[in-house]
This record gives sequence, C-alpha cells and structure tokens, in this order.
Amino acid sequence: MAEAGEAWSPVFERARARIAQPHGHFIGGRWQAQDAPPIAVINPADEQCIGEIAAGTAREIDAAVTAARAAFERPEWRDMPAARRESLLLNLAALIEAEQDEIAAIETLDNGMPFPNARGAVGAAISVIRYNAGWARRLGGETVPVSVPGNWHGYTTRDPLGVAALIVPWNAPFAITCAKLSAALAAGCTVVLKPAELAPMSGLRLAELVEAAGFPAGSVNVVTGLGAEAGAALVAHPGVDKISFTGSTETGQGILRASVADLKRVSLELGGKSASIVFADADLEKAVPAVAMGIFGNSGQVCAAGSRLFVADAIFDRLMAALAEFADRLTVGPGWQGGVALGPLISQRQRERVLGYIDAGLREGASLLTGGSAPEGAGYFVRPTIFVDARADMRIVCEEIFGPVLSVMRFSDGDFDALACRANDSIYGLSAYVWTRDLTAAHAMAKRLRAGSVKVNGAGMEFALPFGGFRQSGLGRENGRAGVEAFTETKAVMIGY
Ligand code: NAD
Repeated sequence: MAEAGEAWSPVFERARARIAQPHGHFIGGRWQAQDAPPIAVINPADEQCIGEIAAGTAREIDAAVTAARAAFERPEWRDMPAARRESLLLNLAALIEAEQDEIAAIETLDNGMPFPNARGAVGAAISVIRYNAGWARRLGGETVPVSVPGNWHGYTTRDPLGVAALIVPWNAPFAITCAKLSAALAAGCTVVLKPAELAPMSGLRLAELVEAAGFPAGSVNVVTGLGAEAGAALVAHPGVDKISFTGSTETGQGILRASVADLKRVSLELGGKSASIVFADADLEKAVPAVAMGIFGNSGQVCAAGSRLFVADAIFDRLMAALAEFADRLTVGPGWQGGVALGPLISQRQRERVLGYIDAGLREGASLLTGGSAPEGAGYFVRPTIFVDARADMRIVCEEIFGPVLSVMRFSDGDFDALACRANDSIYGLSAYVWTRDLTAAHAMAKRLRAGSVKVNGAGMEFALPFGGFRQSGLGRENGRAGVEAFTETKAVMIGY
C-alpha cells in the first residue's frame, strides 16, 4: 500500500507546482489578476498553505456577469447549433480525461479526499459531462393541438434561461462543478462560477480546460472569493437569470431571499440527514461496507451520507459488531498515502464542529461503540465514529454533522408505516437507503420514504436519474432531464397560417 503512495508522487509534484502558481479570475476569456490581498488555501491533511486565490468583490462579479451576458447575446453562442455545444462539452470531457490523475491530485491536496476516491470523483465528472452533452441536441418541446378558431400551429420550445450563477461547496468540488457547468452549457446558458474558497483549485484548472476545449470567450467565467463577498454579490446581481447552488441549508435560505427582488430562477441542493434501513433479511456482506462507506466515505462530508442507521432487532448485535470492525480497520491519513480510506475534514472549524457533536452525543446519553476522537498531530482528522442507543430527539440524530459520525437506532420488523415515520422524522429529505431481499419491504419503503432518492440494496450516484431533496434538503433537481431543463424556460409559440 505504501508503494502505491510512492508511485503517485510525480503526479502530486505536478499538481503542487500547478496550484502554487498565482491565480486570477477568468473573465471574458482572459485571466485577470487582482490587487486585493489574496486568500490562502490550506491543505487540510497537513495544514500547509498550497496556494492562493484572488478575493473577488462586487466589481469582478459585475465584470463576469457582464461578460457572460454579452457572450449569451452574441450570435456565435446564441445561434450555435446544439450539436456544436455537444461537441464542445465532449472536447472538455476528453481534456479532463487526459489529465485525470493530475486533477485528482489537485482535489486531494485541496479537499483532502484519498487519491483513489478523487480519481473516482474525476471519473464521475467526466461521465456527467458526457451525459449532459447528449441533452444539448435532445432538449425539445412539443407540438400542441390548438383549439381556438383558425389555422394555427402551436408548439413549445425550451429556451436557455440566460446567465447562470453556479455556486459550489468544498466537499466534492470538481464533480459538483462539472455537473452544474455541463447542464447549464448543454441548455445554452452562459455561466459565472464561484468556487468554494476552501477548495477552489480544481475549479480554476477546469477554467483552463474550458478555454482549451474551444468554448467562446465569456461563455464560462470564474470568479474566486469568499461566499459573503463574491458569492453574495453574484446572487444579488440583477444580470443573473438563474442560480444553481449547492451548499448548506442556511446559505441556501439566504440565497432564496436574495433572489426575490428579480424573481431569479433558483435550484438549491442543500443539507441532509439521510436514513439507512437494514432489514433482518438483508445481504449483510453487501450492506456492511456500503452502510459504513455511506457515512465514513469522504469523512462524512457528503450531503447524501446515510448518517442515521435503523437496524432490525434480529440482526442488531451481528450488524453492529461487523460495522465496528469495519470502521476500526479504516486507515485515517493524508490522501496521497496508499491504503488510506479516510482523509481529513476540510478545516479546523469543521473538525471542532464535528467533535462538538460527538461531545453532545455523549452528554445526551448515546453510547460510543467506536471512534469518537481525533488523532494527534497535524491535519484535521477525526476517527470513524459510531453511536448506538441514539434517540430521535438527540442533536446527533436531528442535525447534519457533515463528519464521520453514525447514529444507530433499532426497529422491530413488521410495521412499515411506523418505520417510515421514524425515518421521515427529519427537517431534511435528501436520500434514503434500504437493505432487504423482500420485494414487498422494498416497494413499501420506497413508497413511504420522503426523500428525493431512495436506493434499495445499493448506493452511489446515477446521472440519468434526477437528484435533489424534499423539504429543507433543497429545491429543484440536478441530473437527468430535469437537471438540464432547470436551466431553461418553456416558451409557447402559436403561428397562424
Ligand atoms: P456553504 O453554504 O457554506 O458554502 C457553499 C458555497 O456557497 C461556497 O462557495 C460559499 O463560498 C458560498 N456562499 C457562502 N455564503 C454565501 C452567500 N451569502 N451568498 C452566496 N454564496 C455564498 O456550504 P459548504 O459548507 O461549502 O458545504 C457543505 C454543505 O453543502 C452541507 O450542508 C452539505 O449537505 C451541502 N451539500 C449539499 C449537496 C446536495 O447536492 N444536496 C451536495 C454537497 C454538499
């Protein structure tokens, strides 16, 4: 395993050299430096500064929105055949593929995720770009029979909304950015991207590849900076037609308020407290690693993490023993070392938050089955943690922790309504996971669970299916047809003849 880490060192050297270079904003097809003091970017695994980004303000945001508007209205973009937009997106996917390892190394240094996971995330980004590219030529309307007297041809079109603001979080920055960017461009929008200040580097690399892929100047703009400054200026800008935001529920609520003045179209992918439910007949060989990595993967910094686990009484002891053993075998460490399963949390603040929740769990009477501590030394690490005897009213069960902390509760088989009621007892409703071999239980739970995605006997993301949340987990959907249509407006046309 250690040898794997050594074999990766050339690619990490290249990634380090690239992100250490000075970065500006990418506006109107040109890289623009900024005078204001830059923002340092910290590697969460060793707490060292790996580079700096420009701290964009309302001025740079205005320049980027103006460039995106001008590009949107230029015939080069407005009248571009959909097939050309598709091929530009496919060019971008190919360029990313050629640099897959270096981008993955950037993501590991910036966000902390283990290198093999970062490779998986970049692979997912390539897939979603190729998937959305296909929609560019397939987004059609319908022909509608018209009832008013006379000869009429009635039909609908899907028109691009205009300038789309894409605001992304730090937990899976490259994949989330690529999903939003490719959907917006496939629909014919132009974009202003605001990467997360805690993990902005892969977004800047993406801008360079967008340029190389041949997208017209101004169709993609990137402004880095703080959420409260650059992000807030972007969502308030009257030249923005659509906001596609992924991040915390609190920020999402503020963005929705800021959008009201211009009635901007808004998609929100927010927090979660998703339930995993394991029935007594489940295939435990498959369920154990999936349930464990469903909360410990990316150190729990996943919106759809299965952070509340409901286990059937009959298998409780067996499943908990297997989960604890699995968790204890997971190596926590820097993502550039071989054999590491869990990287650090993104920041000191996030680690303190997570450790605060672990304290709260202990104070409120949950029992620690394993983990619960942070390793000594540099890096914002927290060991995989499992609480049993958790109750619905505890903070560790109600609130999104966004760390490697699993809260476990029991249930007795037989009453789907009661079980669904407990699983649905959350302000969120992003995902749910069910493990059973019984088709009746699978369908009964899929029907009752109030979540945007329900997965039975598996986990992971499928780009052809829409993704999003019920309740405070969000507004609208990404991925699938719905994800691209979210960047369009329906127009009805009637032509008399
Ligand atoms: P965050 O809300 O703090 O920040 C997200 C982005 O919004 C960043 O780019 C930030 O700079 C920007 N931002 C912050 N304040 C802003 C403001 N006032 N106006 C405009 N932009 C602003 O979220 P985070 O801590 O980066 O990410 C973690 C959260 O994201 C978690 O709650 C997680 O569940 C959620 N998330 C959801 C999904 C999903 O698809 N549902 C996916 C990943 C993460």
